[in-house]
Amino acid sequence: MSEQTKIRVVTGASRGIGLEICWQLARLFPKDRLILTCRDRAVGQSLLREFHDKGHHQVDFVELDVTSQESAHQLALYLSRECQGFDVLINNAGYASKGSHLDLEIAQRTLDVNFFGVQRVTRELLPMLRPHGRVVNVSSGAGILTDAWSETRREALMNEGLTLEHLTAMMHEFLEDVAQDRIAEAGWPHNAYRVSKAGLNALTRVWAKTWEEKDFSVFAVCPGWVKTDMGGPNATRSLDMGAETPVWLATERLSRLRTGAFYRDKAELEY
Ligand code: NAP
Repeated sequence: MSEQTKIRVVTGASRGIGLEICWQLARLFPKDRLILTCRDRAVGQSLLREFHDKGHHQVDFVELDVTSQESAHQLALYLSRECQGFDVLINNAGYASKGSHLDLEIAQRTLDVNFFGVQRVTRELLPMLRPHGRVVNVSSGAGILTDAWSETRREALMNEGLTLEHLTAMMHEFLEDVAQDRIAEAGWPHNAYRVSKAGLNALTRVWAKTWEEKDFSVFAVCPGWVKTDMGGPNATRSLDMGAETPVWLATERLSRLRTGAFYRDKAELEY
């Protein structure tokens, strides 16, 4: 394998933006290796056949459910055994419930995929990330800290000294506040998706600091409002546009990017 050959891993690639990211990466970098992951084995194998039929033989499929520690561990073993490391992880898998109802089950499921899932997979894979490696967290503008949040919550999440432990405890606190039916009093927006993506944005900033000495970069990205099962048919962006900035962050020269920053349309966005 030449020095330039990169290995990139994409989560939640069964459909939507994740799958489009894979198509764009496969077309743009035909010599690089691409690990398409999704939680349904039959879907993944059928997608793999499609990539291979179109000549993209550098694409592999590995089953991954981001809510399962064992599944994340199996992916780590695969990367260690088959690839001896990797260069880019795109944490794209995401969940948003339909409608505005919020209960503990919805809150748990949403955070388990969008926040804890990203942590779980990244933590397992990090030992295999090669020097100059990067992580791209597909987040959302819904995670921006608007005035739907109390001042105290906003300050806590934006605090320069925020640690991984404190952030994780805060996300557990949200679940407890949902269970106790005191979301507004506790300063949270009435929306688990927003909380999960604000948590993911904060996680991106915390990791950027923690990884400074490791020579790893991490970015958050909002793909915009994209026509997918999640975005719905009225969304303003095509799949193609939705995947563009995540792909750019996964492949652009690192000297042109700022670790810990939040991007949309290839430009920095305020958290
Ligand atoms: P989508 O069409 O609903 O696709 C979601 C993807 O995540 C699917 O591949 C799904 O797999 C996967 N997924 C869900 N739970 C998973 C789990 N436990 N383990 C592994 N994969 C799992 O959504 P999308 O619009 O493409 O969204 C992709 C990302 O962009 C998400 O992080 C989303 O929050 C973000 N985003 C989307 C929009 C938008 O307008 N569409 C806007 C802002 C941000 P299955 O097929 O197995 O369910």
